[in-house]
Amino acid sequence: MKSDYKVNEIKVGNLTIGGDRTTVIAGPCSVESEEQILRIAQSAVKMGADVLRGGIFKPRTNPHDFQGMGLEGLDHLLEAKRLTGLPIITELMDASYLDVFEKHVDIIQIGSRNMYNYSLLKAVGETKKPILLKRGFSATIKEWIFAAEHIAKGGNDQIIFCERGIRTFEDYTRNTLDLTAVPIIQKETGLPIIVDPSHGTGIRDMVSIMSKAAVAAGANGLLIEAHYDPDQSISDKLQTVSMETLEEIIKIVRRLDTL
Ligand code: PEP
Ligand code: MN
Repeated sequence: MKSDYKVNEIKVGNLTIGGDRTTVIAGPCSVESEEQILRIAQSAVKMGADVLRGGIFKPRTNPHDFQGMGLEGLDHLLEAKRLTGLPIITELMDASYLDVFEKHVDIIQIGSRNMYNYSLLKAVGETKKPILLKRGFSATIKEWIFAAEHIAKGGNDQIIFCERGIRTFEDYTRNTLDLTAVPIIQKETGLPIIVDPSHGTGIRDMVSIMSKAAVAAGANGLLIEAHYDPDQSISDKLQTVSMETLEEIIKIVRRLDTL
């Protein structure tokens, strides 16, 4: 669906983010095993997803929760990429892994908890990789744009914003998905913005509805947590949709793309 605001196109291999087609990033919250990520990648590519996601370093609020597979998980993501051709995105939490990420990862994700980590922003600003910058959960739009400027200052203007919900007094949902950020970011920065209705709601049954709402608001893409057995997900299972639901969402999004 066409946005009222034109944004810079960001190229990732053959993929264009910020063009006429909504970019669908899909995959599990965490890479859990090679078998898991290959199975999800193979079904995601069949459905027409554009990018494979999967966390290998997980910023968990509770330190006793699963922290991610680390670089072993990256090997599994790379195997999934080799088999499906899907570009991969994963979160960088520590600049000491930047060289490995620069070499192997197609889009580097900066998570909500690190939006204020200015040394990390500066480090990714010195690369030539597209950066997906998630909104801090208590960040104003202005602070979020400043965070992007920390990246851009180093010479990297390949920035994709990602609205993933903010903390408000409302606690029915995990976060409050601020869709007004979509036109505001496009208008103020001329850069693409992707919406994450998974973290934005925390509720599996709301992901499809809010995906449609995001595309109607002009979002350049969606980031959706999906798993073949959502209830067995090691992290974020309550907001993870099945592969069948992901397929339905992608079908609707592709229809909206023609409008
Ligand atoms: C994630 O994408 O799995 C994640 C940890 O997101 P956020 O940084 O938005 O909480
Ligand atoms: Mn998650």
